[in-house]
Amino acid sequence: MSVPSTSREIHLASRPEGWPTDENFRLTEVSVPELQDGQILVRNTNMSVDPYMRGRMNDVKSYVPPFALDAPLDGGAVGEVLESRSAAHKPGDTVLHGLGWRDYAVVDGTRARVIDTDLAPASAYLGALGLTGLTAYAGLTKVAEFKEGDVVFVSGAAGAVGSLVGQIAKALGAKKVIGSAGSPEKVERLLELGFDEAFNYHDGPVKEQLAKAAGVDGIDVYFDNVGGEHLEAAIAVMNKYGRIAMCGAISQYNTTGAPTGPRNLALAIGKELTLRGFIASSYNQYADEFAQLMGAWLREEKVSYDETFVDGLENAPQAFIDLMKGANKGKMVVRLA
Ligand code: NDP
Repeated sequence: MSVPSTSREIHLASRPEGWPTDENFRLTEVSVPELQDGQILVRNTNMSVDPYMRGRMNDVKSYVPPFALDAPLDGGAVGEVLESRSAAHKPGDTVLHGLGWRDYAVVDGTRARVIDTDLAPASAYLGALGLTGLTAYAGLTKVAEFKEGDVVFVSGAAGAVGSLVGQIAKALGAKKVIGSAGSPEKVERLLELGFDEAFNYHDGPVKEQLAKAAGVDGIDVYFDNVGGEHLEAAIAVMNKYGRIAMCGAISQYNTTGAPTGPRNLALAIGKELTLRGFIASSYNQYADEFAQLMGAWLREEKVSYDETFVDGLENAPQAFIDLMKGANKGKMVVRLA
């Protein structure tokens, strides 16, 4: 393929207040610069949209710097190397890197990893075989210290991270896995994926539905993707010495009012609960261990992953908004080519 002279990219035009809208984003055409030593030119084929990006759209200090206004957004992407001035890459390689939200990316060779597309399609490295998968694995096994025989509850269970958490827990010998999600179709999908119990959180109070699903077993581990009412319900139903991995709080990412719940945190004292927040990248030392296990689980069909594709860079902002509204099953991926 010939080297392009221009590329399209999505800029942050303004910072969202509450829910993002189309106006917060701008599609811009830019020229493709000549490569410097050590750089590669990548034709992005798939890019990731992730809930954490919402936090980066605010001008607040966090564990990742905020996106700049009138500059391209960034995030996980995979693509084909078109041109290389890096000794570690050659044209035709498929790479994973951090400059998504654009059709073509000029990437420092040290920040692009060649991926094996014989093992799985490139898009899987944005999800099950990438940071999403590591989040699920590390959050469950290292943060919540899952052990065989535990009863596990996961919220956001039909999403990218959640659907893997439930399946990994089953593969590692959970006694029971319970998932919550936002539609009857998603609940059905969870049961197909091997969850023992699943409920639609729109059907009634989470605490009641969770208590019913848990029954006399209670829950030992809660993997929290949602926060708010879900976290409060889990604390209420949790067994003594229960462990909670605080992964995300998506119910609060687009709210402008005061955050809700949990109002029952004091229960953690008598139950001697552990609540531990985490950031996946702090668990990179487990990436190889995880890659080996996940490779085997996929081959043995103990774990499978769903992907929801949206086509075209111009539709990436809407895909991001739709992700937070629950339009996805499994990983939301924008296909660029
Ligand atoms: P998902 O694929 O799970 O997509 C987001 C899902 O959130 C939607 O599909 C929607 O599903 C659900 N959702 C939206 N609003 C609500 C709500 N009010 N209550 C309950 N569910 C809601 O995204 P990811 O798997 O990428 O991320 C899941 C969570 O993990 C997020 O909170 C994210 O921020 C966090 N995360 C944290 C990381 C870390 O390092 N700590 C790394 C990666 C992700 P539904 O239809 O079921 O409502």
